[in-house]
Amino acid sequence: MTVARGLPPVSGLTEQQQRGRSCLWCGAVLTVGADTDLGEQRARPATGAAYSWFPRACADTAACAERERRHAS
Ligand SMILES: [Zn+2]
Repeated sequence: MTVARGLPPVSGLTEQQQRGRSCLWCGAVLTVGADTDLGEQRARPATGAAYSWFPRACADTAACAERERRHAS
C-alpha cells in the first residue's frame, strides 16, 4: 500500500497511535474492518535504538480529515 502523505514524527504520537489502536491522523479508536493498515514503519530516534511501529488510519478518509480539522482548531 502506498502512503498518500508523509507520516508524522512518531515522537509526537500517543502510544495508542504508535500501536495502531487509534488513528494516526485524528486519534479516533479504530475497529477491525474500518481501518487502513499503513504497514510496518521504522523509527530512527536521534538517541537510542531504531524500532518498528505499526500505524493504522481510518478507512473513511473524509470523516478522518474532518475529525483531524476539528482537533486542530
Ligand atoms: Zn482518522
